[in-house]
Amino acid sequence: MTAKDTIAAISTAMGHAGIGIIKLSGPMAIKGSLHFFKKKNNTPLLENHIISHQMIHGWVVAPDTQKIIDEVLWVCMKKPHSYTGEDVAEIHTHGSYVVLQLILDHLLTVPEIRLATPGEFTRRACLNGRMDLTHAEAIKDIISAQTPKALQMTSAHLDGRFHNLITQLRKNIFNTFTRIEASIDFPEDLGDDAPFEIQLKPDIDDINQLIASYDQTAIYREGVRVVIVGRPNVGKSSLLNCLLAKDRAIVSQMPGTTRDSIDAKITIENIPITIYDTAGIHETDDTIEQQGIHRAKTLIEQAHLVLFLVESDKNLLSDDFYVYHAIKDQTWLLCANKIDRVKDKIQIQNIPETWPPPISISARHDIGIDRLKKAIVNSLIIQCSGVQDSEFMINLRQKKCLVLAKNYLEQARTAFIDNMPLDCVAIDIRLALDALGEITGAVYHEQILDEIFSSFCIGK
Ligand code: GDP
Repeated sequence: MTAKDTIAAISTAMGHAGIGIIKLSGPMAIKGSLHFFKKKNNTPLLENHIISHQMIHGWVVAPDTQKIIDEVLWVCMKKPHSYTGEDVAEIHTHGSYVVLQLILDHLLTVPEIRLATPGEFTRRACLNGRMDLTHAEAIKDIISAQTPKALQMTSAHLDGRFHNLITQLRKNIFNTFTRIEASIDFPEDLGDDAPFEIQLKPDIDDINQLIASYDQTAIYREGVRVVIVGRPNVGKSSLLNCLLAKDRAIVSQMPGTTRDSIDAKITIENIPITIYDTAGIHETDDTIEQQGIHRAKTLIEQAHLVLFLVESDKNLLSDDFYVYHAIKDQTWLLCANKIDRVKDKIQIQNIPETWPPPISISARHDIGIDRLKKAIVNSLIIQCSGVQDSEFMINLRQKKCLVLAKNYLEQARTAFIDNMPLDCVAIDIRLALDALGEITGAVYHEQILDEIFSSFCIGK
């Protein structure tokens, strides 16, 4: 596919940075960008003098005034040896948003050049056969990976292992499909082949394994929400700060200082965690506090894990039981804070037997925090149906395609067993092949591409 129009976008993140990159792709990428470029000696760079993949030092100048906008490096990658498979040009500027936007605005004055839509560079790369859909989605997942573990699992999608696995599955199923077709035409020629339902079994098992890996890798992909709760002044903000190893929340001796929720990101053993410090939960007539408590309760409902903080040196108060009622239906850990006050021996006498054993910590003095982190990870792993290392980290779209393929194959197997006409069975297998083909892009329609690329950033 050769696009007629040329697209341009800022490819680097907004904000101050050392460098910024504007990327163009399409027939006017080289000519259009050279229009604004001058070499260091102030002479224009002629199109027939450029060498693909070689950087050239120079200036971007405003075409009307010839005033310099920035000192830049210009590079082109001639088709087909580029990311998109089309002519690509890049202008590497200083990382100022103003500079980048100004140059982009100038480029967009060229009639054949327009602003790229989200993911359009990668979409063109797919349509030009430079990569398949699993590769394109892996690029998006790399950009959004939150931990090295997530990155590692994405690499199997980038280097083609996932593509090869799906392609092999389709080949196996296609073989069965062609045998079915043949036996429709020549029923006497079945030979010694295993019954069709048995031939399909290993492929269904492989698909099931991939589907299971979606849930097993979910916490690495999406992260989890951990909410710290307790009555006012038990040390919730101190614990948040201690886990972050910095002062994010205000710590105060005055009860009720955290009236709203504060959140921050941490990673424990490769699990991306958003941790929330909430308003102290207790009975109160103060309407602002009530709002904070209401928000805390909403967060509790959405939490993967709740850390319930109490004080090591006091028996549980009625407010502690009030907190307990708000969290009792969730997965929670009991943390006895301020252990430094009681020489490492929890003094609480009235912990109900049904509660889990308390983990003693001191948020102020960083005691027992590693033990708490271990308990957090264990609890999350148990909850997430046995988190496992998986070679692949499939995304929701891919999982949906796999589930569809599996359902069609199961349907086909049942139909064989029930001696249904083979023509009907063949239709199910064809649909399973299509569902698998949508994962790699071997089968695609515009709607799939729209769905995938709309979640990309502009400039990728
Ligand atoms: P929150 O209202 O539950 O968020 O409690 P804060 O984190 O604001 O802490 C309330 C008070 O308890 C502050 O004076 C903290 O310094 C103190 N505090 C918090 N954690 C500990 C601890 O582990 N040991 C001791 N001795 N004091 C603590």
